[in-house]
Amino acid sequence: MKGTVGEEAPSNTRSKAKVYTRYPLSSLLVYNGSTTLHYLLGGAGIILGYNSWVGYLVGALYLVFSFVQMYVFMPLSVCPNCVYYRVDNSLCISGLNVISKRVAKEGSPKDFPKRATGLFCHNNVYIAALVIPLMAMIPALLLNFSFPVLAILLVVVLLLLFRFFVVFPKEACIHCAAKQICPQAKAMGLRNA
Ligand code: SF4
Repeated sequence: MKGTVGEEAPSNTRSKAKVYTRYPLSSLLVYNGSTTLHYLLGGAGIILGYNSWVGYLVGALYLVFSFVQMYVFMPLSVCPNCVYYRVDNSLCISGLNVISKRVAKEGSPKDFPKRATGLFCHNNVYIAALVIPLMAMIPALLLNFSFPVLAILLVVVLLLLFRFFVVFPKEACIHCAAKQICPQAKAMGLRNA
């Protein structure tokens, strides 16, 4: 199956929005830019917030965890089951389908919903990577208030809101060819959007 920017999705969709088999570069930049900024600021906020070897250790562990779950674990475990893995010349919102094709064996579409099954499923790990810095910075501010850490906390909160209210519904999931079987699109009511 060949893919082009803005090409309509395979037949199982009843969506009204245009479904991309190749997302525009601008969407990839928004998605990956907001994701990496969230992780980097989150790690910096933890390090500055605790301002000790504990802060450096927890901040470094958080940075490794967040980037690995997104850019290593996702293409190895989630992407092989996604429709973008199988569509020729496709490009998903993260671009990770291209990496996945090089490093992982093709999976099965029927296993794609498993990304949201179980306590340690990738969906929960992905959400944890977004929320951990918020949960870490709030006690740090209570213990040792500083305006730079407060500013980082507010920016990370804004990035989280931006992800849930702009990136997912307007840039990513609404145009996704996997939304008919994706638990996240279902949870946000975007399957038929
Ligand atoms: S619907 Fe959204 S969360 Fe699900 S695969 Fe597509 S872009 Fe990712």
